[in-house]
Amino acid sequence: MEEKTVILKNGFILNEVKPIEHGFIVIRGERIVSTGSGEPDRTGDETIDVKGLVVSPGFIDMHTHGIMDVDFMESDIPKLHKGFEGYARFGVTRVVGSTLSNPLDSIIAQAVRIGEAKQSSPFGDILHGVHVEGPWLAPRCRGGHALKYLKHPEKDDVKRLLDQTGGIIKSVTFAPELDNSVWLTEQLCARGIVPVLGHTEASYEEAEKVIHAGARHVTHMYDTTMGYRENPDEALVMMPGMETAVLYYDEVSIELIGCPVHVPKPFFRFIAKIKPRDKRVIVTDSLSGTGMPENTVLTDKDGRQVYVKEGVLRMIDEDPKVNGNLTGSAVTMNVALRRLAEYAELPLAEAVRWGSINPAVTLGLDHETGSIKTGKLADIIVMDDTFDIKLTMVKGNIIYNQGGKA
Ligand SMILES: [Zn+2]
Ligand SMILES: [Zn+2]
Repeated sequence: MEEKTVILKNGFILNEVKPIEHGFIVIRGERIVSTGSGEPDRTGDETIDVKGLVVSPGFIDMHTHGIMDVDFMESDIPKLHKGFEGYARFGVTRVVGSTLSNPLDSIIAQAVRIGEAKQSSPFGDILHGVHVEGPWLAPRCRGGHALKYLKHPEKDDVKRLLDQTGGIIKSVTFAPELDNSVWLTEQLCARGIVPVLGHTEASYEEAEKVIHAGARHVTHMYDTTMGYRENPDEALVMMPGMETAVLYYDEVSIELIGCPVHVPKPFFRFIAKIKPRDKRVIVTDSLSGTGMPENTVLTDKDGRQVYVKEGVLRMIDEDPKVNGNLTGSAVTMNVALRRLAEYAELPLAEAVRWGSINPAVTLGLDHETGSIKTGKLADIIVMDDTFDIKLTMVKGNIIYNQGGKA
């Protein structure tokens, strides 16, 4: 079959090197075949005029638990299919679905299910794979993870998880102070899985050991990560913790949740200033209430209820001390990036990098996606300059069109 040629013209093209005003982009089949300024250099089967709009690389959300009532830990295959589509509405062209701390057998079964959902969905290309977040986390820094499931990474468990999930696992978050963490890092690296520090109160030295072994990313920095602590042997002497190590080593990328409740605004500016340009990542860490109307109430399998309020989820509980407490993020990727641009005072093209080429580099996908460059996959979105998404294209296929003509 002849490959279809689609042209987007008259847009502000966020080309990998430098944005092009009044530019065009030519897509043949699943790849970008040319970009330039002015009139397109050829005719296509379909030409879309995107006058006044921004043509951006699609967003890559490398840490999200769910969206629009879909939950990567709980949902069955038909629901997961719905979820893939849900992300496209917010400009996401690759997603790494995060599991939560649970019995290991449940995590293995769900990772396999997510792999099957990818294979059987017409939107399966949007799923890159699975991020395993827990059970190898520090109890004191567990955040929303259930204490009863947390444990050290036993070697048999690690082997079982990696051997029985068919390559769908792409990243694993763990606390470096737990037993076997250096060994775990080596096992992950050997399989091309990204080892990620997170939910941890590790010392500088403990963090450094896993960085030397190959750990290269931090899960939601400043949420459930410890900065430094007082030396127990000497009052007022401070000991550096993992945060100092991951800021010191340029090789380690850092993710921030694009939410001012989880990450107070100065942190965005700080990371923008001190981390190398391709090591700054924005994620949503979103839960299943994301993308749903304000005040929607959701009930989990244990009967606990939460409601959606201004981009976060809060608890419903008879105990007034618990009622209204923060339980997680409900931000979408486009809103997260809009906030980043505002909080860190970044130009649009620079903010977009945190949600496109930078996560692509961390995940080892940057040779194929993450930027607009001739030869790369056509994972492209069209939006206005406030990050309102008009169109989402994955591998050259339009899978969301706000105008309804997809
Ligand atoms: Zn977490
Ligand atoms: Zn998470």
